[in-house]
Amino acid sequence: MPHIIDAFSRIGEENAFAVLARAAELQRQGKDVINLGIGQPDFATPPHVVEAAVKALRDGHHGYTPAAGIAPLREAVAADCLTRTGARVSPESVLITPGGKVTMFLAILMFGEPGAEIVYPDPGFPIYRSMIEFTGATPVPAPVLEANGFAFDAKDALARITPRTRLVILNSPANPTGGVAPGAEIDAFVAGLARFPEVAIMSDEIYGRLTYDGLEHRSLLAYPEIADRLIVLDGWSKTYAMTGWRLGWSVWPAAFFEAARKLAVNCWSCVNAPAQWAGLAALTGPQDAVEAMRAEFDRRRKLVVEGLNALPGISAVTPKGAFYAFPNVSRTGWKAKPLASALLERAGVATIGGPDFGVHGEGYIRLSYANSAENIARALARMGEFLATERPA
Ligand code: PLP
Repeated sequence: MPHIIDAFSRIGEENAFAVLARAAELQRQGKDVINLGIGQPDFATPPHVVEAAVKALRDGHHGYTPAAGIAPLREAVAADCLTRTGARVSPESVLITPGGKVTMFLAILMFGEPGAEIVYPDPGFPIYRSMIEFTGATPVPAPVLEANGFAFDAKDALARITPRTRLVILNSPANPTGGVAPGAEIDAFVAGLARFPEVAIMSDEIYGRLTYDGLEHRSLLAYPEIADRLIVLDGWSKTYAMTGWRLGWSVWPAAFFEAARKLAVNCWSCVNAPAQWAGLAALTGPQDAVEAMRAEFDRRRKLVVEGLNALPGISAVTPKGAFYAFPNVSRTGWKAKPLASALLERAGVATIGGPDFGVHGEGYIRLSYANSAENIARALARMGEFLATERPA
């Protein structure tokens, strides 16, 4: 029997997809399931973006494109970076990817190997740890704590850097907590990095356009002093409701760009052409749909936090970004994963158990409020009824 390499015994998963499949299965059986599990906007992609893809197909954009992406799209990403962050990003350093997730895959492959350490947020997007372990590198979790409003803690992250650290991963606004790194923490982090010139940084800014209460997202692109070792992960999925299009972009320092482009050539050749033309229309066209979606998420955010805090044993910090609430459920008497599972199976509400995002996620569940206000209200009512009547085994 042929053996696949050991690394596959260490690769992880993103449980949100398993929950999505289970929710679909329950729905097929005729159950009414409200899905607050998966993190994707419930809106349609703006019509002018869809039209641009249809036009691209009609205009004959059916072939391969350059591996790094079509030139106008790379230029549009660079222009968008300048407008939003003030950073002068060369289009040459922009890589178009099939989804934002691919950038973490490339960056972790590039810096992870046995003996290396990679610092990443915990609770955090599960693929960080999964890929770090896949490469044989040592995952070094940096706790993201409720006591700190789930905000990024620069001092703590810097204290985890050792001579073996090759990469530090940041994610703000954050999944699963909705935490946003205060500008002062980012300043302190970048200042502290001066002591560690060998360390690369990957900043996952996929939720950068989704902040609330007037809080500004601070992109690491705004710090020229780390530009020679900064990888920025971003994309269209969350901002333009384009999760299924599989379209992302990243910015790479000149020293690593070629390695990233070669991985692209070795793996996916290029991102599908019509999706790239759609991405161009999204970036260069009207942005009112982005603000309309953000405003609607904001409205639901308030509903979900208020509703959660009214439930017995549950308390929720108000998230400052993304579209997730990460309530503390430890006083319900339930462990987080059994609670998430029972809510899905018995109450028809899909959520994700906090431990799926790391050890520091125990005691929490993640709810995506990228669902209608009506469904959020129904889900909260079901959760209230469930908690009042059901006890853990
Ligand atoms: N980074 C974070 C923190 C995410 O939550 C997600 C998606 O859930 C991604 C990256 C990946 O986005 P994409 O769907 O564009 O691959």
